Amino acid sequence: MLQEIACSSCGETEELSGERIAGAISMRCNACGERWERDLTPACRSCGSKDLVAVPHAMVEKSRGTQLSVVGTRMINLCSTCEADSIEQWQRNRPNPLMPRVLPTVGDIDDVLSE
Ligand SMILES: [Zn+2]
Ligand SMILES: [Zn+2]
Repeated sequence: MLQEIACSSCGETEELSGERIAGAISMRCNACGERWERDLTPACRSCGSKDLVAVPHAMVEKSRGTQLSVVGTRMINLCSTCEADSIEQWQRNRPNPLMPRVLPTVGDIDDVLSE
């Protein structure tokens, strides 16, 4: 889901144009002419906090039936406020990557990890 951008001057969300410049996006509101820079530092989609923690996240694939196997990891940014429980879970299981939240049952995770 894209983060909603709105003009800080008139609140316009549609008539905006952006031009990518080093480390930021130069935004222009076509409704009122306001210009501003949007920095590209990742921010939490829920609360806008930039206090994020990069956590390795497991990519899993269903192999046989309900069996899941870890096929790789990728780094994701978790909000230290909204996703504190996920960060804590990862810290407990280090150096294992964080398992995806969308899994059939908790029992299946245990099966995969014990194999
Ligand atoms: Zn505007
Ligand atoms: Zn947040």
